[in-house]
Amino acid sequence: MCFYDQQIFVCGDHKWGRFRAHCNKEYRTGETCGMKLIYEASRVASKCQMCKKYEVIWRKIVSAKERVARWETESINPVSTDKEKDNIAAWQRELKDMELMKQTKMRTI
Ligand SMILES: [Zn+2]
Repeated sequence: MCFYDQQIFVCGDHKWGRFRAHCNKEYRTGETCGMKLIYEASRVASKCQMCKKYEVIWRKIVSAKERVARWETESINPVSTDKEKDNIAAWQRELKDMELMKQTKMRTI
């Protein structure tokens, strides 16, 4: 087990930072083992990259849905409407993938 800094984001996610110290066991070999322990945790006043990306995609979906709803009530832009619906589906899949990734990450900690 070796010690690392850890950054904690407002969304609750964390990221490992700089390597700080070897544990007693690995000290002699000069290598780092796979286990990470927190040396110093610091809070970061922002969300992690993944949550930021998630929000961006989320906002894209919301505005695309609004556009589609408007076009459909006005019966205009049928081609763009179809294209936008494809986009929405693709973005939703992306969000789902990110959620899965997050869950897997949580389990491995
Ligand atoms: Zn996050």
